[in-house]
Amino acid sequence: MFNNFSPNMLKTFEACPKKFYFKYIKNISMPVNEDIFEFGKNIHALASYYLKKENIIKIESSLSEKEKNTWEYLKSINYFKFETIATEYNLSVKLGNYFFGGRLDALMRDSDGRYWILDYKTGSVPKNAKFDFQTMIYTLAVSYFYKTTKVSFAYIDLKNKTEYVIELTEELTDSYREKLENIANKINICEFNDAKKANCHCEYDVICYY
Ligand code: SF4
Repeated sequence: MFNNFSPNMLKTFEACPKKFYFKYIKNISMPVNEDIFEFGKNIHALASYYLKKENIIKIESSLSEKEKNTWEYLKSINYFKFETIATEYNLSVKLGNYFFGGRLDALMRDSDGRYWILDYKTGSVPKNAKFDFQTMIYTLAVSYFYKTTKVSFAYIDLKNKTEYVIELTEELTDSYREKLENIANKINICEFNDAKKANCHCEYDVICYY
């Protein structure tokens, strides 16, 4: 029985239970191109040092043109002027019989006492960001841990240099709880015996058959 879930686990199950089976039940990892993640990792690390007020002059001077351009935008966002509560922060929340958790890029607090969860996206912002598992888990975790209803989630789209904000409401809190508990229950009763979908591809393609 699974009782600990990350946003990625839930996203994987929603996309394809078979993929979830390979990845989280059989623990099979497929090779990925690390270079794709390198750019994002550097920007995330730099943002974390900056918010912790560490000296980043040397790192800044070694950035590539692309990194410099992205970093200049990120550094200028209004959220970085708020108080830094934590960066690269592990947080979880218990709902019913399950724990849901993950790592926030940054948690800030503005002068009105509102908590802002920041998530830097080098790729694209999720299509349905309001009900993305990351949004649901992180907003509830911050709301319960800090005992506050003043929580917002800001996706920072580094590619298009825009921001997308979701404000937690009472209605969303109930809906998030329900959705998270439902999918956790679904995973625990799933028998993972669906056939491969026709013309379906992912990194597990070579071991996925009808
Ligand atoms: S190839 Fe398709 S059916 Fe098989 S694991 Fe990947 S997404 Fe799922």
